[in-house]
Amino acid sequence: MAASVFGSIHSVLHSGAASVAGNVLLLFVIVFWLGLGFRVHRDARRRIDDGWLVGLSTALGFGLPFIGPVVYTLFRPPETLADVHAREVELRALRGRLLQSTPHCPVCLTEVESSYVVCPVCTTRLREQCTSCDAPLDPLWQACPYCATPVVTVPAGNGTIVPFVADLDAALTAEATRLSD
Ligand SMILES: [Zn+2]
Ligand SMILES: [Zn+2]
Repeated sequence: MAASVFGSIHSVLHSGAASVAGNVLLLFVIVFWLGLGFRVHRDARRRIDDGWLVGLSTALGFGLPFIGPVVYTLFRPPETLADVHAREVELRALRGRLLQSTPHCPVCLTEVESSYVVCPVCTTRLREQCTSCDAPLDPLWQACPYCATPVVTVPAGNGTIVPFVADLDAALTAEATRLSD
């Protein structure tokens, strides 16, 4: 008698515990599902500029439990809109800095003015000078902007010998004398 009473109480408690556990599990699954859907919605808003696509992603996140968010993470844009914006700003700043950057001597890297003809530290020649008014000239200029004198380009090989050609000449001469012997 007592044993059967205890047995029925035990079974009632047991089934109650099981149903509570089942409900908790169900609640957990639903919370997890809604949480994932909400995360997909928030992530899509951070990454996608198009409202229609954000809506589609959100529908995918909520509509297909657990599979939708996985599919979304496979196809979502790799960068957030904030990242894209930050990169654009950084690139623009870099470009501006390059344009405004002060020129440097190519040899000793001292900061020089764009009007310098020679580097004041290592005396490297930085620019050509106008033959008539001595103004510093840009390598691209075809005429002096200050006195309108055409820029005369000094013909190559005038006193300066390119080492490679000199070596080739010497080699050819040596070869000729060797053959004539
Ligand atoms: Zn220098
Ligand atoms: Zn000039």
